[in-house]
Amino acid sequence: MSTLLIELQCPQCGAPAVLEETDRLFSCDFCRVKSYLYSRDYFRYMLPNKAPEDANLLYVPYWRFKGMLFSSVPAGIEQRFIDISHQAVDSDFFSHSLGFRSQALKLKFVAPDTPGYFMKPRLSFDQVISIFEERFELSLPKPVYHQAHIGESISLIYSPYYVKHKIYDAVLNESIPTRPLEHFDLESLPGGPPDWKIKFLPTLCPSCGWDLEGEKDSLALICKNCSSAWQSKKNKLDRLKFAYIPDTGDDMIYLPFWRIKADVSEIKLNSYADLVKLANMPKVIRKEMEEVLFNFWSPAFKIRPQTFMPLAVRMTLTQPKEKLVNKFPDADIYPVTLPIDQAIESLKTILSDFIKPRRIYLPEFDSIEITPKSYLLVYIAFHRRHQELFQPICNYTIRKNQMKFAKNL
Ligand SMILES: [Zn+2]
Ligand SMILES: [Zn+2]
Repeated sequence: MSTLLIELQCPQCGAPAVLEETDRLFSCDFCRVKSYLYSRDYFRYMLPNKAPEDANLLYVPYWRFKGMLFSSVPAGIEQRFIDISHQAVDSDFFSHSLGFRSQALKLKFVAPDTPGYFMKPRLSFDQVISIFEERFELSLPKPVYHQAHIGESISLIYSPYYVKHKIYDAVLNESIPTRPLEHFDLESLPGGPPDWKIKFLPTLCPSCGWDLEGEKDSLALICKNCSSAWQSKKNKLDRLKFAYIPDTGDDMIYLPFWRIKADVSEIKLNSYADLVKLANMPKVIRKEMEEVLFNFWSPAFKIRPQTFMPLAVRMTLTQPKEKLVNKFPDADIYPVTLPIDQAIESLKTILSDFIKPRRIYLPEFDSIEITPKSYLLVYIAFHRRHQELFQPICNYTIRKNQMKFAKNL
């Protein structure tokens, strides 16, 4: 498994620093100023080059995805962790993937003043992902009713090339074997100046001005002064609604979950009573179950795919009914490391897991649409035991080493 390293300069004092690709909260070792990294869409990086100074560099974009791929098949859910890069202009003159080079080299953020010709992606991220989904499908039991990809990293990486009688890979400064150059037509590959830069948001609470806190890869920043939570959205920090379910115990850590209210087409899934019927749970349906609104639940933290989906399904089937408190618990809390838009990707897979009978519903799954309406970040207490974390409401145990940052547990 790979993690890319990115070189940058502190926006405040210019000191050099190195980040991991999932880092969002940058804290400068020199001037101590904290900033939050933000982009309107994908982060864009470029590989370093060893080209001669007079070379006109061509920057070829590659989509990078690291995350989970879930496939709903007759026997259940198949999961896989994937870590890929794929050329986004679909040209035979450049290599199709970045291979391992992006792991061996330090990247930089694309900057507006970078000289060179930055090609525009011609394949969308979804098109590239579907190439991999099709490839993965070859090894899956048929039919595959639904696939979902949940990314912890989705970005564009630009690799430099130049043309001098041959096409040169400017990372290595070596010519590469390609089709005869007379077929190469730069006009057919639209591009221009990079037209993108990373943005840095100040990490002061928009409500009270206090210093916001978070782990370096945290997607939710916390103000302990006025008890608020914030996430980046459209160039600013946006208030995030959150709550926790109180619990008592000596040694607990609260893990974050997304509770998502959504409209589901074609089937009736509005209440707890609907869930009991659809999941064929061994329960007698009482009148009051019809009053309890149904929510999807999905982890708001990275965890291996073999645990992610069973945990999401268990939480969704449990529908925690305990009273919510709209502040932070007075105990350890684990950072939000999986954003709401990625959690929304998981909803149809969750449904495909519990719906019964699956052989009746799954062939119709393409026509079902799930439209999210609102969401809430909910912290749920897990009790620490030797190697495990135990959640009593849904009776679920996570082994600590299955989580990405076991040190925080
Ligand atoms: Zn600095
Ligand atoms: Zn505040």
